[in-house]
Amino acid sequence: MSIYLAAIKDKVCSHCIERGPSGECRISPDKVCTIESNYDRIVSAILSTTSERYEDYVGALRRSVCQDCSYGNPKACDDRDQVECPLDRYYPLIVDAVELIGIENIRRAHPQQ
Ligand code: SF4
Ligand code: SF4
Repeated sequence: MSIYLAAIKDKVCSHCIERGPSGECRISPDKVCTIESNYDRIVSAILSTTSERYEDYVGALRRSVCQDCSYGNPKACDDRDQVECPLDRYYPLIVDAVELIGIENIRRAHPQQ
């Protein structure tokens, strides 16, 4: 599993309303977790955005993931409207998790003397 996906799930699943008492994912059988199915594009969208405005990260998400999603699109999405998309629901936590790893990678690549 990608270190990014592991970090995202570590941060998000514990807060997710789909999580069962034993830590299992109880998302509806006819759905997939939009975090798991899109994590590589999520990570690319976040790492390619440098901004202090959360809206810019949301814009990157809409262009990179929602644009090509079977549940909706950037302008209209029932799951988003009904707060049923785990990716959209927990996106602020996901941005934090990915950026933290990005910063750690930079620190590792440029250790202080
Ligand atoms: S729906 Fe996704 S975020 Fe929620 S518990 Fe399941 S795997 Fe984790
Ligand atoms: S908000 Fe809607 S269109 Fe975007 S990833 Fe979630 S389900 Fe797909």
